[in-house]
Amino acid sequence: MVGALSRRVFAAGLSVSAALITSQAARAQAKGRVVVVGGGYGGATAARFLKRYAPALTVVLVEPNDAYVSCPFSNLVLAGERDLDAQTFSYDALAADGIERIQDRAETVDPDARRLVLSGGQAVLYDRLILSPGIDIRWNALEGYSPKAADTMPHAWKAGPQTLLLRRQLEAMEDGGLVVMSAPAAPYRCPPGPYERASLIAHYLKTQKPRSKLLILDAKDNFSKRPLFLNAWAELYGDMLEWRGASDDGRVSRVDARANALETDFERFEADVANVIPPQQAGFIAQQAGVADATGWCPVDAVSFESTLQPNIHVIGDASIAAPMPKSAFAANAQGKICALQIARLMSDLPPEATVLANTCYSYIAPDQAISVAGVYRNDGGAFKELAEAGGVSLLDPPLGDRAREALQASDWFKAATSEAFG
Ligand code: FAD
Repeated sequence: MVGALSRRVFAAGLSVSAALITSQAARAQAKGRVVVVGGGYGGATAARFLKRYAPALTVVLVEPNDAYVSCPFSNLVLAGERDLDAQTFSYDALAADGIERIQDRAETVDPDARRLVLSGGQAVLYDRLILSPGIDIRWNALEGYSPKAADTMPHAWKAGPQTLLLRRQLEAMEDGGLVVMSAPAAPYRCPPGPYERASLIAHYLKTQKPRSKLLILDAKDNFSKRPLFLNAWAELYGDMLEWRGASDDGRVSRVDARANALETDFERFEADVANVIPPQQAGFIAQQAGVADATGWCPVDAVSFESTLQPNIHVIGDASIAAPMPKSAFAANAQGKICALQIARLMSDLPPEATVLANTCYSYIAPDQAISVAGVYRNDGGAFKELAEAGGVSLLDPPLGDRAREALQASDWFKAATSEAFG
C-alpha cells in the first residue's frame, strides 16, 4: 500500500513531461483541422488543450447538448446533498478559447473521406478526429431492460433527467421501502460508481427513512475498493444495506418493469425503487465509425490514442479500451490532455512520445467522508501498464480525519477537472 506522497510525486512527473512535449509541438505551429465528437470530460479537455498546444489548428467540437451534466458527484444529487445545477457546465469557455462548436449529433463517419455527417445533414471534414462519445446502454442485453423500462427503473448512468427521476423516486418512497440496485459485470463506466451510489443512498435512507432497506444485486464477486466499502457499510449502515455477489445468486438475469421487479437465477425481488445499472458499450458513433471491436469498446494505441482499427481517428475516455486505466472522468481528462499533445506532435510532423498517466477514483461513503484508489500507468510500447510501485488505496483503518480529508480532496479534484474541461 502506497501513501498519498507517492501519488503526488507521480502526478508532478506527468505535468513535467507534458510541458516538454508541448513546447516542441507548439514551436512547430501545427496547422490543419481537428474535429472532436463529444463535449464531456474527455472531449472538452482534449479540444481545449489542443487549441492551447497548437493555436494555429482549427478545432471543432460537435456536441448535441447546450450544456454538459456531470456524472461525477451526481450520486450526491441522489442523496439530496447537491443540486443538478452544480453538475451543469456551459461550453462558453470553449468558445472563448477559439474552439468552433457545432451543436448537433454526429451520425456517420466516413474514415476514407475523413468526413462526418451530422443529424442536421451537415458534412464536416477533418484531418484528425477525436471521438469521446462516452457510453451507450446495451439495451436488452439484460432481458426486459429497454428505454421504456428505464422510464420506471432508471439507470441514472448518464446524468440529467435520469438522475432526477431516481431522486424523485427515492423522495417519494415511504419509510420502510425496499430499494434494489443492480450492478453489471466489468467493463463499465466508473468501476466504483455503483458502490458510492449505494453508500449515499444508504446515507439518505438512514437519515430520512430509517426503516428502509437497500439491496445491491451484483453480477460479479469482486469490485473496486471492495474491502473499504464493505467495512464502511458495516460501520455506517449496518443491516440497512445488503450486498449480494454473483456466487451468492446476485446476478440479475431479467427485469420486469411492470412489476418493478428484478430476477436472479433463483429469486425475484419486487422493489419500491429499482436502480438498474445495465451493461454498456462505447457510444454508437464509435461503432458506426468502425473503431469498436467485438467487445463494443475501442482498441487504441496507448501512446497516441489513435484507433488500431481506423487511421486518423483517436478514441479517448470511456469508449476506449485503456485497461488497466479505469473508465473514469479522471482518466478521460488525463487522456484528453495526452491525446491533444500527441495530435499536436503528429500534425507538426513529430512522432508521438510515450508518457505517464495517472488516475484517482474518489468515492464518497457518506457526504463528508471518502475513500480512493490511485494508479499510475506507462504507455510505452503501445499498451498501458500499471506501475506496481506507485498508486494505492486508502487505508482500511485510517487515522482520525483521513476520510474527511479525502472528501475534501475529492471536491478539489472535481473543481480542477471541471475547470480544465469547462471553466
Ligand atoms: P462523457 O463525459 O459521457 O461525454 C460524452 C459526450 O459525448 C456527451 O456530452 C455526449 O452528449 C456526447 N456525444 C455522445 N455521442 C455523440 C455523438 N454521436 N455526437 C456528438 N456528441 C456525442 N469518474 C470519476 O473520475 N470520478 C467520479 O467521482 C465519477 N463518478 C461517477 C458517478 C456516476 C454515477 C457515474 C455514472 C460515472 C462517474 N464517473 C466518475 C465516470 C465519468 O462520468 C466518466 O468516466 C466520464 O464522464 C467519461 O468521459 P467521456 O468524455 O468518455 O464521456
